[in-house]
Order: sequence, then C-alpha cells, then structure tokens
Amino acid sequence: VAPSPTVHLDHRFADELPELAVPWQAAETSEPRLLALDEELAAEVGLDPAWLRGPEGLGLLTGTRVPAGAQPVAQAYAGHQFGGFSPRLGDGRALLLGELTGPDGVVRDLHLKGSGRTPFARGGDGLAAVGPMLREHVVSTAMHALGIPTTRSLAVLATGRKVQRETVLPGAVLARVAASHLRVGSVQYARATGDLDLLRRLADHTIDRHHPAAREADAPYLALLESVVAVQASLVARWMAVGFVHGVMNTDNMTLSGETIDYGPCAFMEAFDPASVFSSIDEAGRYAYGNQPVAAEWNLARLAEAMLPLLDESEERAIEIATEALGGFRDAYSAAFTGHMRAKAGLPAGLADDVAVPLVDDLFPILRSGHVDWTSFFRALATAARGDAEPVRGMVLDLPALDGWLERWRALDPDADAMDRVNPLYVPRNHLVEEALDAATTGDLEPVERLVDVLRSPYDERPGLAAYAAPAPPDFGSYTTYCGT
Ligand code: AMP
Ligand code: MG
Ligand code: MG
Repeated sequence: VAPSPTVHLDHRFADELPELAVPWQAAETSEPRLLALDEELAAEVGLDPAWLRGPEGLGLLTGTRVPAGAQPVAQAYAGHQFGGFSPRLGDGRALLLGELTGPDGVVRDLHLKGSGRTPFARGGDGLAAVGPMLREHVVSTAMHALGIPTTRSLAVLATGRKVQRETVLPGAVLARVAASHLRVGSVQYARATGDLDLLRRLADHTIDRHHPAAREADAPYLALLESVVAVQASLVARWMAVGFVHGVMNTDNMTLSGETIDYGPCAFMEAFDPASVFSSIDEAGRYAYGNQPVAAEWNLARLAEAMLPLLDESEERAIEIATEALGGFRDAYSAAFTGHMRAKAGLPAGLADDVAVPLVDDLFPILRSGHVDWTSFFRALATAARGDAEPVRGMVLDLPALDGWLERWRALDPDADAMDRVNPLYVPRNHLVEEALDAATTGDLEPVERLVDVLRSPYDERPGLAAYAAPAPPDFGSYTTYCGT
C-alpha cells in the first residue's frame, strides 16, 4: 500500500445538503492510542495502515487533525424511537469527516463516533467508552465476514478521556467507514422541515450514491423507495439467517444504503426463540428477533410517508403508489429468507418451494421447544447429512419430532459441504464478546484480537477453537445489552 500523506476528504454531503450538515470539530484528545485497526479495510479505502498508526494518522482517526479542505459536519436527522417521533435527533456524539474515494473508485463515508458533544447532543456527553466501541468493532467485523452488508469499523482509539457511566470508564473514538450515513430518519427530517426542494435534493443525492439505476426509471423517486425496500428486505433476511438481533431498529438506525448500522444493544441469539430480546430498554419486545421483519416494514412505511410529496402531486394517488411499493417488502423478505433457510438446510436448488417451505417451517417448533442453539444446530445438521445424526439428536428435546423431520429431510439428499459453506461455526458469542471487552477495558487487548481473528473466518473449522463455537455456559445467565454507552 502506498503511503497516504495527501488524504483527500470530499464534502459532497455538506455541499449538497447544507440544511442537514452542521460544520463541527472533534474534541481534542490528549493522548490517542490505537486499540484496533482493520488493516484490510484501510487498504481497501486507500489509507496506508503504517501511516494511520503515525501521528498524522491518529490525528485523522480522532478528527483532531483533518486534511486541508475537509469539512467535518454533524448530520441532522429525525427518527421514530420505539414508535415515538423525535423531529430532531442528529449526530450527538458523531461527525462525518467526509467522503473517501478508494482505489476501487467507490465513495465511502469516513465518520467518527465518540468525538465530543455537538449541537445535537441534548443531555448527552458526546462521548463513548472503550468497551462499546470495541463491541462495534468486533460485531461489525464479524457481520462483514458473514457476508452481511454493514458499516465497518476502521479503527478504535482510546482517547485518554474519562467517561462517566455507572462507573468511570476509559473513553474511545470509533472511526467508521460506511457506504453513507443516510438514514430513514434523514428523509423524515427533510420532510419535517416542509422544504420540498430539500427533500428532492436528498432523494437525488441518495439515488446518486446508492441506487443509480433509479435515475433511469420512469418515476425515479418511486424507484428509490422500491430500492430501499428491496435492500432492507434482503438485509433483514440475512440478519434472521444468522440469528442477529439488532436491538434498536429505530428509523434513525436504518440506512438507505441497506447496510447494518448502530451496534449499540445488538446480540446474537443462541437458543432459538422468536421472542429473543436482549436490550434493557426494549421491555415490550418491539425489536425481538422474530419481530425484525415487521419492524423493518414499519420503518419503511415511515420512509414512504416522508416521501409522499415526491411520489405524486395528489396525496391520495401518492398513498396508493407508496402502499404498492411497500407491498413488495413481504414477498422480497420471504423469498430472501426462504432462500437462506434452504441453503442452511442444504436443500437442492431445484427443489420446489411447496416442499422446501413446509419442511423448513416444521423445523422451527422443534428448535424452539428444545431451546436449541441456532448457530451450532446447522453445523450439527451437516454432520447428520454425512450420516451421523447423534450430535443433532443430542441438541433437541422432542426426538420423535426430530427423527420424523430428519427422515423427510434426508430423502431430499441434502448437501453437507454446501451447508458448511453457509452455516457459520463462529459468530460473536455474547459471553465471549463480554469477556473480551472486560479484558480490554482493563488494558488487555489480546482477547479482543483473538476473537476478531476467529470471527474473520466464520466458516472454516480450525483446531483449538471449540470454545469459540459453543454457546454460553449456563452460569452466564440471561444476557442484557445497553444503548448509548
Ligand atoms: P442511538 O440510540 O445510538 O441510535 O442514538 C440515538 C440518539 O442519541 C442519536 O441522536 C445519538 O447521537 C444520541 N446519543 C447517544 N449517545 C449519546 C451521547 N453519549 N452523547 C450525545 N448524544 C448521544
Ligand atoms: Mg443511532
Ligand atoms: Mg447507538
């Protein structure tokens, strides 16, 4: 990789959408220290890892020494949080440093989280702690390795700041790379201003950056809405296939690009249960594992509402158009999810859906009643496809139901090797993540480094890593996650 003394950060978002961009600077950091760096990602976006480790690189990654010409901004957005609308959220502790164009020609946001208070901070301190920022680093790296579209962690730096939470914690900044930080909540904010020209500019900007095919459509804004519906249906189906529970699917945490964003209270489900909830504040289970498709559809309806003036001059007609576009979500989601489940079960490609879908559906009650670990079940099932059903039989309670199911399944000649290529062995197990973050908070980075290393190759079984493939021990108890830490 070539050295990068002349990093160029564009400011297209700030130029084209100044109403959504408040020029702002990162808070000074006395002694920034690199805790994690994704060197592969650095190279992908055209930044030299060795340069990033030096003083100029640390200045960029903390936002304290931005390249000449850069125009960092805090982004304005609105959002429905647990169903209630907040017209003004915005980056309370984050900054968009600007857009990077990689050697591949791809434009990506370089963004900081934990970089100090902004005009959107309200009561917040603008800071982030080491543990939660490393959590985003670990989990988003794992998601990327699993092939799931996601914002990515380029680096995590300790800032030397003290952060007051329940206890005093070491402060950190996360440097994030993303297709963009445009959200459903961005559109809601633009709509709420009543400025139709702003709404149109935001839609045009989004089309240019993420959905360029929409520009050629007869109705580009309808095509934009349909594209966001499609990428989100695909994204949530991928979450469901790996047992990912986002935890805070507010409309400000849903991207227009189709990337996963905001790794606050997320968790990986172990025992299969659609009611799985981990977030301390999600008492009603609004964002439970099994509700995620419905929550996504609800959010997309809020997007459609915000876009109504772009869809037709007649509001009645615009609502008809929006309703039809939203109707595409269920079919797209079901097709995508069914596809993932067929692959997870190793079913042959030519098998008719009216055989595959009931077979897959009949598996869920068996997994649920047995509290079966979602991730390891499918690897054990591949072993059953190879002739040894004992591992999988050892995981469930209702053996007669499982044996009947296995008989139907085996008759379809499932492909064990294909299963092992799509069913991860290693996902970010909640107890391992917590253990590693606790160690990092007290200064030992080794467990985080080892965990990230394992999660980068989720499908390849390696010796000595059995502990990374196993669910939490019973004494880990029920798992609770927290927002905004
Ligand atoms: P989230 O739940 O992470 O999506 O955050 C919701 C809103 O709260 C966003 O507007 C954040 O910028 C803001 N926020 C979260 N934590 C803080 C903090 N420590 N300081 C300032 N703003 C925050
Ligand atoms: Mg957020
Ligand atoms: Mg958050």
